[in-house]
Amino acid sequence: MKIAFVASEVVPFAKTGGLADVSGSLPPVISNLGNDVKVFMPKYFSIDSKKYDLKENKLVGVFPVTINGFEYLGKVFKGFLPDTDVEVYFIDQPYFFHRSQLYTNDLDEDARFVFFQKAVLITIQRLGWKPDIIHCNDWQTGLIPLYIKDNFSWDKLFEKTATVFTIHNIGYQGRFAKSALFSAEIDGKHFYPAGPAEYFDDVNFLKAALWYSDMINTVSEKYAEELLTEEYGSGMQDTLTSRKDDFVGILNGVDYEDWSPEKDKLIPQKYTPSTLENKAVNKKALCEKFELKDDPEIPVIGIVSRLATQKGFDLIEKAMNDLIKLNCQLVVLGSGEIEYEEMFTEFAEKHPEKIAIWIGYNIELSHLIEAGSDMFLMPSHYEPCGLNQIYSLRYGTVPIVRETGGLADTVINWNDSKSTGTGFSFSEYTPEAMMEAIRNAINLFTQKEKWKKIQENGMKLNFSWTESAKKYIELYQKAKNKRNL
Ligand code: ADP
Repeated sequence: MKIAFVASEVVPFAKTGGLADVSGSLPPVISNLGNDVKVFMPKYFSIDSKKYDLKENKLVGVFPVTINGFEYLGKVFKGFLPDTDVEVYFIDQPYFFHRSQLYTNDLDEDARFVFFQKAVLITIQRLGWKPDIIHCNDWQTGLIPLYIKDNFSWDKLFEKTATVFTIHNIGYQGRFAKSALFSAEIDGKHFYPAGPAEYFDDVNFLKAALWYSDMINTVSEKYAEELLTEEYGSGMQDTLTSRKDDFVGILNGVDYEDWSPEKDKLIPQKYTPSTLENKAVNKKALCEKFELKDDPEIPVIGIVSRLATQKGFDLIEKAMNDLIKLNCQLVVLGSGEIEYEEMFTEFAEKHPEKIAIWIGYNIELSHLIEAGSDMFLMPSHYEPCGLNQIYSLRYGTVPIVRETGGLADTVINWNDSKSTGTGFSFSEYTPEAMMEAIRNAINLFTQKEKWKKIQENGMKLNFSWTESAKKYIELYQKAKNKRNL
C-alpha cells in the first residue's frame, strides 16, 4: 500500500509529546512490512536543514495556497527518517512556521494548520503520487478527510484515497471561531448545529475528522472505551458513538533502539536485567545532578511530563505535604502550566533534600531520569496511551499509575501473595488513593528480593511496534475497502 503519514510533530525533527515519538517510529515499521510510506510535517524554524541534510524539492516547486483571500507561497524540503529510507516532506512557509513554539495561541493558529493541510495535498498532487491511505493524526490534520471528500474531490488522483484518523489526545480539538470556515474554505453545508464541522457554533477540526475519515482509532483499547463516555469524551462521545463500528484502539509501540537501558547512549551506565545492579550508577549520577542524597535505602521517584492538569498534577499538589514526609525523593522534569511550575519550584526551595525540579524540555535528562529513578509517577486524570510508563518498565523503574487509558493497559498492579505485577496502580482520582499506591511502592522497595522481582517482571515485557503495526495495516485495509465499495 502507499501511505501518506501526516503529523504536526515527528521525532527527531520536532517534538512536544508522544505524537512525535509515534510519528518517528511507526512509519519505518509500516514501511518494513512492505509498504511505501511518506511522512509529511511542517518545517518549523527549529529544524536544522544542514543537520538533517534536507534538500529543497524542485519537483514540487513553489506553490500558492489561498487563505482568507491572501496567497501564501509554500515549498517543500525532503529528507529521511534517520537510518531508514522513509522519505519526509517538510512543508516550508516561514511566516506560518518560523515561530518560537510548534503550537501557539496566535490569532492565526487555524490558518497555520489549514495551510499545512492544503500544502500536504498539493504536494501529493505535484508528486503525482497516488496514496491508498492518508493517515492523519490529531486536529492539525483533521480537515484532510473532509478536503479529500469535498474540496479536492475533483482530482482523480484522490478518487480511491481513503483516510484514517488517529486520536492521540481528545483534549486538543482545534476549536476556532466561525471565521475559520473562511480561512479553511469549508463549505457551509458542513456547518450546521451538531453537524460535521460545528461544535457549539465554533468550527472544530477534530470533529470534522471524526465525521469524514473512513476509519478512526486511538492509542489504547481502554482509552477507546473511555472516549465513548461523557466523562472522557470531551464532547465528542456522541459523534464517536455514531462511528463506533469504524473506531478501534491500537496501543502505541515504543522504539527500543532509543529506549532500552542496554542500548541507551544518553545514560552514564548501560545495564540489562542480569546486570541490574549497574542501575545504581545512573541513580548516583541523577542524585548528583539534582543535589540529592544518593542512598540505596531512599527511593527516587521520577516524573517526566508536560505539566498539565491532564497528567494529575492537581492530585500531586494536594498530596505534596504528605509526600514530603515519606522516605523518598522526587525528581521532576517538565514544563507547561505556570501554576505547577511554581508549585514544584516552591516545594523544591523549601525542601531541597526531598524535591528537585528542572523546568524545561531536555531529552538527555529524560533518559537519565528513566535510568536513575527507582519509581516513576504518572497519576494522570486521563492518558490516551502514555509512553513514559512503558519506557519505565523497560528500565526497571517501577511505574506508579492511575488506572486509566493506556496506563491501565500496560501496568499490572503488584500482587504480593503471587509476586505478579509490574507496578502500582490506583483507580479513584483522589490524593488518598494515589498516596496509598506510593506507600505500597515504598514499602515493597524495602523488601529487596520482591523489588527485584517486580523490576524483572516489567523489564521482560515487550511493547515494540511489531504487533501494533500489523493492526494499523488491518485498519488501512478496512479503510481502503470502505472507500472503494
Ligand atoms: P503526551 O504526549 O501526552 O505528552 P506521552 O507519555 O505520550 O505524553 O509522551 C510524552 C513524551 O514526551 C515522552 O517521550 C516523554 O519522555 C517526553 N517528554 C515530556 N516532557 C518532557 C520534557 N520536559 N523533557 C524531555 N522529554 C519530555
